[in-house]
Amino acid sequence: MKVAIIGAGASGLMLGGLLTQKGYDVTIFDGNEKAGKKLYITGKGRCNITNLCDTDEFLKNVVRGEKFFRSAIYSFSPQDTVDFFENLGLITKVERGNRVFPESDKSSDVIKALLKHCKDVKIMYNSKVEKIVKAEKGFKIFLKNENSKEEKNVKGDYVADKVVIATGGESYKATGSDGSGYTLAKSFGHKIEKLVPALCPIKLKEDLKDLEGLSLKNVSLIAEIDGKKKELFGEMLFTDCGISGPIVLSMSSFINRAGNVKLSLDLKPALTKEQLEKRLLRDFDSNKNKNLSYILKGLMPNSLSIFFAKKCGLNLEKKVHDVLKEERKIIIDNLKNLPLIFNGLYPIDAGIITSGGVSLKEVNPKTFESKLVKDLYFVGEILDIDALTGGFNLQIAFATSYSCAKNMMALP
Ligand SMILES: Cc1cc2nc3c(=O)[nH]c(=O)nc-3n(C[C@H](O)[C@H](O)[C@H](O)COP(=O)(O)OP(=O)(O)OC[C@H]3O[C@@H](n4cnc5c(N)ncnc54)[C@H](O)[C@@H]3O)c2cc1C
Repeated sequence: MKVAIIGAGASGLMLGGLLTQKGYDVTIFDGNEKAGKKLYITGKGRCNITNLCDTDEFLKNVVRGEKFFRSAIYSFSPQDTVDFFENLGLITKVERGNRVFPESDKSSDVIKALLKHCKDVKIMYNSKVEKIVKAEKGFKIFLKNENSKEEKNVKGDYVADKVVIATGGESYKATGSDGSGYTLAKSFGHKIEKLVPALCPIKLKEDLKDLEGLSLKNVSLIAEIDGKKKELFGEMLFTDCGISGPIVLSMSSFINRAGNVKLSLDLKPALTKEQLEKRLLRDFDSNKNKNLSYILKGLMPNSLSIFFAKKCGLNLEKKVHDVLKEERKIIIDNLKNLPLIFNGLYPIDAGIITSGGVSLKEVNPKTFESKLVKDLYFVGEILDIDALTGGFNLQIAFATSYSCAKNMMALP
């Protein structure tokens, strides 16, 4: 039985190795000159391979496709991912928030382990698949420009009994995951749910020239999404035209399909308005003859205090003893809820992942086989499943591939 896998990324490599272990004749095609280009840049070059939390917790971190993904995570858990890599000789470590990394902190070691797992798989590099056609028996695979250099007997087309599309999303296109897999899926009549960026920086319509590079810890980003409130606590930073960092990336995954978004920042989430009022009164009392700028600098970084005062219409040069009660109220209200003008998300290429993809209604959640075309499968990020940061997305790639392999093999 010949299986062609399109894509030598996280999911394609996991699947390829599993299928050869059971005697399938597997060829992986990848448009790049090497495997795992996206894997290489994951986790800032350290590759956060999974998140060692329990299944319920895991599913809470899946933003889309949680129900569909349920059976896959039960058949291949985060612990199974750790065991899988450890069996291949990759020592792992668990960091804050159950994030699992290779002990070496090198994503290249994860790729090496996956290639070891694929020792019996033929991997055709520089082989971008442009078209797949269902033949009378199996599929014909056409490569772009007949550019395959790896195998003499392939001249632009290849025949397989089964095809798995594991081409990833369409963000960070330079890694090879350029969205061409969606075109392949569409050619078989599959619906592609709207593609939008996820885990992506947010653009603001604000003058941020003095704030670029400033990072804030222990703040809450609040979004009112079509009237519903979502609040995320942690770390963020300002970019040249917006905001990024952990809580911003996560928030993007919740607002990427919303019609109406209002954003604001709680700069003092640990304090209530009453506690802030007391603190301000104390500060004012002991610094009566200082400028208001002095008080604000005690509450936030200097560059932010200038931005803050401008937004609130406050005069930083004003003497503290001249600050009116109403102005004190404005300060407190804005410390707890500083509005930021939302200007959309960065483009899809800047997202850590792509949200949307092959419609889950048309894929079997156990075998990952297309419900429209027999012997055609989809695994990994091409599916309409996405999760937050923390190792969840790679676990989705590994678990969908494991389930696909297990159940493909169970079939006659
Ligand atoms: C900067 C960054 C950091 C990340 N960090 C993490 C992290 O630490 N932890 C985590 O869990 N997730 C992380 N992710 C997300 C994770 O990398 C992806 O979700 C995961 O790689 C998806 O696996 P995949 O196999 O579906 O696709 P990919 O890994 O993207 O692989 C797809 C492969 O298909 C090939 N391909 C595409 N089209 C074709 C075609 N037509 N013909 C032939 N080959 C084709 C591509 O060249 C590519 O090699 C990160 C993503 C980015 C961009």
